[in-house]
Amino acid sequence: MDCIFCKIASGEIPSKKIYEDEKILAFYDIEPQAPVHFLVIPKEHIDGADRIDESNSAIVAHVFQKIAEITYELGITQGYRIVSNVGKDGGQSVRHLHFHVLAGRELAWPPG
Ligand code: AMP
Repeated sequence: MDCIFCKIASGEIPSKKIYEDEKILAFYDIEPQAPVHFLVIPKEHIDGADRIDESNSAIVAHVFQKIAEITYELGITQGYRIVSNVGKDGGQSVRHLHFHVLAGRELAWPPG
């Protein structure tokens, strides 16, 4: 499958890794939208949050648990935002489930 995040997960395409285990990878976004902007992906290909079901939902809990640990390790104390864009209207450009973690400045709400 021609999926850029699958290639990043396998190491075929390099990334600036923050955290990795057998199930997930966290790496910095190449086009940061905040002073700290990284992505967390499952290594298993899942198209997006709209494809979470009973068989694969455990990965979401794992991702959120690791985000709490990673942000603590990075010294992020003023809060952050977790975003998962879905489909065209959600602005998803890479069709492999990923969670953006944005921090380091006060973020606007609602998003544009
Ligand atoms: P989305 O638009 O929500 O699908 O997010 C995809 C994100 O992946 C964007 O923020 C891109 O900047 C980021 N991205 C695309 N290619 C790479 C890459 N090779 N390394 C790191 N981040 C990437």
